[in-house]
Order: sequence, then structure tokens, then C-alpha cells
Amino acid sequence: MARIAVVTGGTRGIGEGICLALQQQGCKVVANYGGNDEKARQFTDRTGIAAYKFDVGDHEATIAGCARIVDDIGPIDIVVNNAGITRDGVLHKMSWDDWNEVMRINLGGCFNMAKAAFPGMRDRKWGRIVNIGSVNGQAGQYGQVNYAAAKSGIHGFTKALAQEGAKYGVTVNAIAPGYIDTDMVAAVPDAVLEKIIQKIPVGRLGHADEIARGVAFFCAEEATFVTGATLSINGGQHMY
Ligand code: NDP
Repeated sequence: MARIAVVTGGTRGIGEGICLALQQQGCKVVANYGGNDEKARQFTDRTGIAAYKFDVGDHEATIAGCARIVDDIGPIDIVVNNAGITRDGVLHKMSWDDWNEVMRINLGGCFNMAKAAFPGMRDRKWGRIVNIGSVNGQAGQYGQVNYAAAKSGIHGFTKALAQEGAKYGVTVNAIAPGYIDTDMVAAVPDAVLEKIIQKIPVGRLGHADEIARGVAFFCAEEATFVTGATLSINGGQHMY
């Protein structure tokens, strides 16, 4: 039986790459998204993968959204916590709302999805959770105290939950992507991006499928002895 995988924020960018890689690996893939219905519709038309709309930062909505997926498709074997946002600004200009929204979605989303799916994985003694962190959670980044804190938190969350899942065949790992050519990075001013690229030894931005390969590795049937790990995929930008 194909494993059922839910990829949050799966309808575009890195998430779409992850959906395609897991589909290619033989999983039955479901994408989640937050609000962009048009992008979600285009994604489903392109890939044939169903897209479920719920805000992963909203606890009740996530529990209900995952229950709908279980009813429609079946028990969730794999969760990829990929949904994320930025609300950048230097600390003295950053609002409490900008702090909270990033923590709520980027870090709270991981907790909410795990609450929905981890108990079933534990009962069935098989599961894969992959959390998408960031190089900026490892190294910090000017103007991103909220984002860096949330992403850094994801790495701690991963190691803690990995210890809880280990005895039950549930692995929990993280990927720390560097700069990838998605809509999120398109929002970075060209001059800033140019400076960032100069610091990437490989000399370019990464692509979604290069992150997806790492996720597919962690989600494989054979990946039974790797848990609590963080895989950096960043073109050599930060060797951690
Ligand atoms: P994009 O902005 O291109 O896509 C974000 C996805 O997340 C969309 O599908 C979006 O849905 C979804 N999303 C946003 N908010 C919510 C929410 N509240 N509930 C559910 N879904 C939501 O992002 P990327 O592909 O660039 O990034 C994906 C992940 O990788 C993020 O966690 C990001 O922090 C991380 N990352 C990205 C890097 C990069 O360089 N791009 C570098 C390091 C980490 P909708 O379309 O409906 O808005």
C-alpha cells in the first residue's frame, strides 16, 4: 500500500517540489495550502495532487483539516512541515504581530500537524515527519529575529520529537535549506540577493527539487536509522 504523505504549503515553491518527489517515490501525496486558491487550483491541474486549504497555524483548523484528509484518503504516514512565511524587519521596527504570525505559522504549524498525525503514526508503528527549517535558523540573519527564532525552534522541536518517536518507528528529521529560487526569495530586493549569492560557494540559488531529494531520502522505507538529524542543503553557504 502506498504511504500517505501530507505536505504543508505544498502547492508552490519548495512544497511543490517535495510533493512531486514523494509522488515519484510511490507515495499517495496530499498538499495543504493557506489561502491562495488560484495557485492551488493550478497546482492540482498540473500534478493531479489534491490540495486541502487550512491554516497550519490554527490548531483547531489543522486538526479538522487532517481529519478530513484521513476520511477522504486514509491514515497519514508522512508529514512534511514545509508551510512558512516571512515578516522581515529589524527588531526596533518589528511589530508584535509580525513576531507572533511567524511563530504561529512556522513553528506552531509543526506542533499542530504533529498533534494531528503523530498519535496515529505511533499506534501504527510507522511514520516519517520532516520539518523544513532554514540556514537562517542555523546562522541567524539580519532583519529576521522572528523567522530565525522560529526556524531555530524547528530544529529543537525535531530533536525532541525524534526521541519520542524512536521506539515506535516514527522518525523525525529536518532539512535546513539555503536560498532557493521561489516566490519567497523573489521578494528579497535584487541588491540584497546579489550579495547573498556572492556568499554561496556553489554560486547560485538552489532549486526546489534539490531540497525535495533530501526530504524523499528521510521519507524512504529504508531510512529507519536516521532520526533527529538536520540535513543542510545550501550550496555550501553555511557548513554546520
Ligand atoms: P513560498 O512562499 O513559495 O510558499 C509557501 C507555501 O506555504 C504556500 O503553499 C503557502 O500557501 C503555504 N502557506 C503559507 N502560510 C500558510 C499557512 N498559514 N497554512 C498553510 N499553508 C501556508 O515558500 P517557499 O517554497 O520558498 O518555502 C517553503 C518553506 O521553506 C518555508 O517554510 C520556508 O521558510 C522554507 N525555506 C525557504 C527558503 C527559500 O529560499 N525559499 C530557504 C530556507 C527555508 P498559499 O499559496 O495558499 O499562500
